[in-house]
Amino acid sequence: MTTAEQKIRKTLSHKQDRFQHEGSSIVRWITGGTAPDAYVTFHNGGPKTIARCPKCNQEIGDFDSNYGPNIQGQIAEIRAKAHQHENERHQ
Ligand SMILES: [Zn+2]
Repeated sequence: MTTAEQKIRKTLSHKQDRFQHEGSSIVRWITGGTAPDAYVTFHNGGPKTIARCPKCNQEIGDFDSNYGPNIQGQIAEIRAKAHQHENERHQ
């Protein structure tokens, strides 16, 4: 597990118990390591949590709500897609 993955996982875990109250208006910052930073909002989709662009609400990707064994790859994919989306749509 890389430092970046630890950081986002820690952030996710820390936020998880308050997620229901904070809702989808909170922008999550995925950062750390050498990959570009990304910004997303999280939306409860049952077994999957949906990540959306904070600026246009387009769905970026999703990850296992129970933080299963694929969480690291799922977060990395969302991060890459969010960064690509930002460059293509908002710059
Ligand atoms: Zn967007």
